[in-house]
Amino acid sequence: MEPRLFLQANHLGVGIYARKSFEIGEEILVFGGMEVFGKEAEASPHTLQISPMGYLDVDPPGRYVNHSCLPNAGITAGNSLIAIAPLHAGMEITFDYSTSMMAENTWRMQCACGAKNCRGVIEDFDRLPFGLQNHYFKLGVVSDFVAERLGRQTHHQRLHRMLVNQALRSLPFPDQGNSAAAMPSHQDQYYENHR
Ligand SMILES: [Zn+2]
Repeated sequence: MEPRLFLQANHLGVGIYARKSFEIGEEILVFGGMEVFGKEAEASPHTLQISPMGYLDVDPPGRYVNHSCLPNAGITAGNSLIAIAPLHAGMEITFDYSTSMMAENTWRMQCACGAKNCRGVIEDFDRLPFGLQNHYFKLGVVSDFVAERLGRQTHHQRLHRMLVNQALRSLPFPDQGNSAAAMPSHQDQYYENHR
């Protein structure tokens, strides 16, 4: 078990908790396990979808991360779980399972997370309110196969765009006072056309 984390019983059975503070963006753990498909995936109680048909049969400690409709963590590139809110020692670590869910057979389960904004059900990402989808895309915690299915930016494209924008901002444009503000919209247009 990671020394920065600990397990504890709670209203959902068992959850994973922070033993220290985590800053926003800091990696908490990486989900690992064997890749399984079809019936094998259905038989496992601890799966994480990682592709249109593929699932991880998640090993501890990742398998103990509970869902919340008001999560403080999210999955980013490389099945890495990162903090999306400041975490303090003793807080339960949760992510929104819907951010890694998009399957042929619509699977859903009742949600008992207890958050004040609880949706009551956990289901595929495209069923979330559009504003919430955008919120998770902005945080960079939507799985690539979900993003691809919806025609949105994947983690790699997002990183690439960030690097391009950084490079553009570092170029000198002495005669254009507001060039820095104008450039991102040009880039936005580029990505609108090419994503
Ligand atoms: Zn909930």
